[in-house]
Amino acid sequence: MASERFDLVVIGAGPAGYVGAIRAAQLGMKVACVEREPALGGVCLRVGCIPTKALLESSERFAEASHDLAGHGVKVGGVTLDLEAMMARKDGIVTNLTRGIDFLFQKWKIKRYLGDGRLGGEGLVQVSGDPVVELAADKVLIATGSSSATIKGVEPDGDRVITSTEALALAEVPGRLLVIGAGVIGLELGSVWARLGSEVTVVEYLDRILPGVDGQVAKLAKRLFGRQGLKFRLGARVRSARAQGAQGVVEIDGAEPLVADRVLVAVGRRPNTDGLGLESVGIDVDSRGFIPVDERFATRAPGVFAVGDVIGGPMLAHAASHEAVACVERLATGWGHVNREATPWVVYTDPELAFVGRTEEQLVSAGVPYRSGTFFFKGNGRAVTLGRSDGIVKVLAHADTDRLLGVHILGPRAGDLISEAVAAMELGASSEDLARFCHPYPSLSEALMEAALAVDGHPIHA
Ligand code: NAD
Repeated sequence: MASERFDLVVIGAGPAGYVGAIRAAQLGMKVACVEREPALGGVCLRVGCIPTKALLESSERFAEASHDLAGHGVKVGGVTLDLEAMMARKDGIVTNLTRGIDFLFQKWKIKRYLGDGRLGGEGLVQVSGDPVVELAADKVLIATGSSSATIKGVEPDGDRVITSTEALALAEVPGRLLVIGAGVIGLELGSVWARLGSEVTVVEYLDRILPGVDGQVAKLAKRLFGRQGLKFRLGARVRSARAQGAQGVVEIDGAEPLVADRVLVAVGRRPNTDGLGLESVGIDVDSRGFIPVDERFATRAPGVFAVGDVIGGPMLAHAASHEAVACVERLATGWGHVNREATPWVVYTDPELAFVGRTEEQLVSAGVPYRSGTFFFKGNGRAVTLGRSDGIVKVLAHADTDRLLGVHILGPRAGDLISEAVAAMELGASSEDLARFCHPYPSLSEALMEAALAVDGHPIHA
């Protein structure tokens, strides 16, 4: 017998689940949210995006104070690292933000259940515990997210062979850190520890870093990261990684084993569907373990919807939130959609890398006629004064219509700059529109304008 009835029961309180719950409550639904962790916010807030950004910021300050300030005429002596304080700052930020969601849940009268949520047949969600609590749900939103994936032969032990969760909380700086995977997590966390003094080697199966990023931009990024001390072993397939005493040993095809103090496994993420009771409502996962949904985010089970990492797609926090909002708005109003073409990506390295839309390689393989304009930050006055003039902006536009097809930025604050391109693409702008917007001087955003001008062959400062 269900203890209570809700219009919507959300399973999972990450950026998909908690945002969906809040939006549904705003739209007048009676909402419950089931989450197994005491802190709300999911991987992103607890052990993902937010703590990573906190450590990226702190490690960047440390690196800057150690060797970049002299050029500004600022002399700093005896810079030392207090890793414990750095970690405490990160933990404080996480606590602060996760408590903020508690506050928002109270504000919107979302009933919170602590435990593992599972589907218990049509219209029923069970929350683990003694006794099990049963909730009657008119609609269910699955937002259970993802976990670190691993590869055959690689078994993280949480100590020498670790995932991103442990890499965010190491008690000392590893002398040598080996990262498996030159994707987003590998490069962000590799950057943190390299700045704090680790000798970092990134082993990547492909012959390039950052699959999915425009090739020209990724190539330049690799050069810049290399200058910061990151070493790369590209085209190297890892066969095994294991702890051996106080070290990690990694075997790669056709080469001597590599030894490091810690080995970080960053080879992607897999959807969390274990124990969800999907079979009770007839949902089968696809070949990669994701829950199939249609454009309304509806699963094949009536009244059961799914959003975020558990359905695949970009596996980005903001994409997950966007999907959740679109899903519940559609439930309440009949309208709501997500434009994947205008979903930005950001990699928070130094410099940052951000893009929206398609890469040059994708346009070539799809046979889309395009024109390209590039502009280097060294021609941007603001970037030069910041001492951050490495990087490039690349604008891709349709050769016939001039409609923007992709914008790629490697440079200072790229993650903020990309929003202008997102807005332009959402509104169907052309590269000429972007070039004609009046940009403040001196600002980093002028680099975007210049790259747009370059599409037509006439940038001013290049
Ligand atoms: P990823 O898919 O970005 O990168 C994994 C890398 O590992 C790939 O380059 C792949 O070729 C490589 N790889 C796979 N098997 C290998 C092997 N046997 N040997 C060597 N290399 C191998 O995955 P990730 O970096 O773990 O990130 C996971 C997800 O989390 C991604 O979807 C990412 O978008 C998301 N994320 C996003 C952000 C952000 O937006 N800033 C930050 C962190 C994570």
